[in-house]
Amino acid sequence: MTVRSVIKRAPWRFHGETGEGSPDAIFTIECMTCHEESEPVDNDGRVPQEWAMQHTGRNTDHRLFKLHTETYWRVDPASGNPLCEEDGCPTP
Ligand SMILES: [Zn+2]
Repeated sequence: MTVRSVIKRAPWRFHGETGEGSPDAIFTIECMTCHEESEPVDNDGRVPQEWAMQHTGRNTDHRLFKLHTETYWRVDPASGNPLCEEDGCPTP
């Protein structure tokens, strides 16, 4: 059994990125009529809503929008994974 196959069978943990400076989410909203898109904003879902309302105010027949939400995720070694013993196991 190679080191790679041991690592593949070891426990891993999939979780949201919570490191310093990492946003919970980045939001943009896109008009489905003209495909204009708002500037990306971190953590505040109200900003794209306000952008959509103002966009419709300027273009009264543009009323359908797609909200894009970007989040960051990690896969880290979990307890029992040999990499966890080498590098230390991150706390959940
Ligand atoms: Zn539009």
